Amino acid sequence: MKAPSDRTDIRTLSSEKLATELKALGEPAFRSRQIESWIWDKGAYSFEQMTNLGDGLREKLNENFALSRVEIGETQVSQDGTVKCSFEIAANQVVEGVLIPTSKRMTACISSQVGCSLACAFCATGRLKLLKNLTGGEIVDQVRRLAELAQEHHGKGLSNIVYMGMGEPLLNYRSVMESIDRITGTPGLGMSPSRITVSTAGIAKMIRRMGDDETRVNLAISLHAATDEKRDKIMAINETNNLDALRDAVQHFYTQTNTRPTFEYVLLRDFNDSVEDARALARFAQCVPCKINLIEYNPIDGGQFHRSDADTTDDFKFYLEDHFNMIVNVRRSRGEDIDAACGQLAGKS
Ligand code: SAH
Repeated sequence: MKAPSDRTDIRTLSSEKLATELKALGEPAFRSRQIESWIWDKGAYSFEQMTNLGDGLREKLNENFALSRVEIGETQVSQDGTVKCSFEIAANQVVEGVLIPTSKRMTACISSQVGCSLACAFCATGRLKLLKNLTGGEIVDQVRRLAELAQEHHGKGLSNIVYMGMGEPLLNYRSVMESIDRITGTPGLGMSPSRITVSTAGIAKMIRRMGDDETRVNLAISLHAATDEKRDKIMAINETNNLDALRDAVQHFYTQTNTRPTFEYVLLRDFNDSVEDARALARFAQCVPCKINLIEYNPIDGGQFHRSDADTTDDFKFYLEDHFNMIVNVRRSRGEDIDAACGQLAGKS
């Protein structure tokens, strides 16, 4: 019998690998389909729950593999109905997930890493160190648990999933793609990929890779500044992934997938909210058919930036629409009172 620490997390095994391991334990191939269905369709988190397997096999599984799920720590509910919860990954390793209800949607915002390595100047998560890449199973668990909370608090299921919580999804590519397979596939949650958005600070090579892999999910790029000079000041990643590299990668993604990316742009007062900034943004974004999301800045403790005022925000939007015919949405801040808004996730509780 293996020591608990030597037992492989069964959720990290591919279907083929699981079948091979079961064969080595003297089990027929169809068992792997049954087990996968328990894990990914039904969300089982212990072998005891797999009632159609028989005691002998359940015992073998217990001896050789680990199976668990991410537990919910604290849950907070905002005045606007936004729900934030912490997920306990390991001792002292917590990520956060957010449920954002609107009249039309029920969006789950999930994390891909414990902490983040990118240190963007305007983001609270960027002040934490990167502690761990989540596994595909840990990412799927957040979706499951947020779906439970959606039922509990709002009596509805999830309609959309955004990889916009803690971490940089494209620096944990494999697990993120595994999680997408499980969220969209069978066995799995069977959701449409068009309802999923992966948001990146702009890892050019991995954006190209998403194109090569012909992914069917949506891509959002956190642009926030449209000249290298300005972007260098707020996003260190721009030094190695500059705007030229980003443009090439995004064009490649669009050509391969035929999916319009979204450029996200957080409006920072007197930093990137002038008419010249809008013009630079339009010039850059015209490299592909796209959408623009203007994001209200959410203050973080000790932050150096301020939110642009409402008139400036409107003027910026209208300028892009009127002069460049762009599709522009303003993403109003949600869940600010509980530090659940974009950029505020830092495991404060
Ligand atoms: N690492 C990924 C996903 C996490 S952040 C990325 O960079 O896209 C999700 C979005 O929130 C990003 O667009 C990010 O730039 C934005 N954001 C970060 N801090 C913010 C803040 N203080 N106010 C508003 N948006 C913020």
